[in-house]
Amino acid sequence: MDPYESIGLPRVVNAAGKMTYLGSSAVLPEVAEAMAQAAQSYVDMAALKRTINDRTGGLAGAEAACVTASAAAGIVISVAAALTGTDLAAIEALPDITGPKREVILQKGHVVNFGANLAQMIRMTGARLVEIGTVNGVKPYHLESALSETTAAIVYVVSHHAVSNEMLTLPQVAAIAAKRGVPVIVDAAAEVDLALYISQGADLVVYSGHKAIGGPTSGLIVGRKPLIDACMMQEKGYGRAMKLGKENLIGFYKALEAYVRQQPEAAQERCLRVTEELQRELADLPGIATSIVWDATRPIPRLLVTVQAGAGRTAKEVIRLLEAGNPSIRTRNHLVDEGIIQFDPRELKPEETKIIRQALTMILT
Ligand SMILES: *Cc1c(COP(=O)(O)O)cnc(C)c1O
Repeated sequence: MDPYESIGLPRVVNAAGKMTYLGSSAVLPEVAEAMAQAAQSYVDMAALKRTINDRTGGLAGAEAACVTASAAAGIVISVAAALTGTDLAAIEALPDITGPKREVILQKGHVVNFGANLAQMIRMTGARLVEIGTVNGVKPYHLESALSETTAAIVYVVSHHAVSNEMLTLPQVAAIAAKRGVPVIVDAAAEVDLALYISQGADLVVYSGHKAIGGPTSGLIVGRKPLIDACMMQEKGYGRAMKLGKENLIGFYKALEAYVRQQPEAAQERCLRVTEELQRELADLPGIATSIVWDATRPIPRLLVTVQAGAGRTAKEVIRLLEAGNPSIRTRNHLVDEGIIQFDPRELKPEETKIIRQALTMILT
């Protein structure tokens, strides 16, 4: 029996995407198998972490890598690393900062909430957050004038949550930071490219292990070796409160192996097939119109279902009814105020398109 159903929870049909609130990714069978075996045996944890980190760096094409409990944990650990380096006394002293560098700079349009407030992840280390510019405008002089002897790092966010226009670009930020020797930490939690941001000048880049990579709950930091060494050392401090078990370390690594092996075009093809299949299933339902639209920055097609005035229900009501059913159908709801429900194909199985049609038929007729 499904372990969730066994404790009385409805099965979820995930048409929302890789969402943390729905458990992010369903891992591949080979990943689940490796995790089950890892959970049932012993290993020297220090050797496991060293080996996984080394191999992960190799697979990601990075100078070095540090696997973490999540991207949020990766941000805390990266900022802590920028504050302390590998100085154990400094690591143990956090959130009291012993060195002169105690400020972290963030552009105002990057102060995002991804389910929790990014600013809090930074402040949790003890760092003082310095927000620069305005939510709709940051210029190089804002960054230049905020940088000082007390700047420990700049955090840069790549995300659909962030304001993308009118902020400084990563190459701009990296160029200014490099002149002052200040590290740039990129939060690329949900992004797909493991090399791009390093190539644009980032010193550390943080990813979620359970988003694009498709692993169990985990995170990844890649970047420059001295900073990654300082990240690893945080396990003697804050990192301990965010630690990762042996089965998730193995699960992350197996998922990463599959991720770097996969042809991006194949995943994209699959997504498009499922989206088109769903569009066909919904074609003759009354009260709605459908169209396929690609994500603004990532190669993800989605089915947009517009709930029309004559449908007898609002988009909000349709979403609530889909969610209340069994199985519970979860959609992507950023555009609900415009009467649009988005169906994301990434975690959707082809046969689930029929379940969605049945549920929508009941709701709309
Ligand atoms: C999802 C997300 C996070 C948090 O990732 P977790 O791995 O779930 O902690 C952080 N930043 C951004 C931009 C995100 O999209």
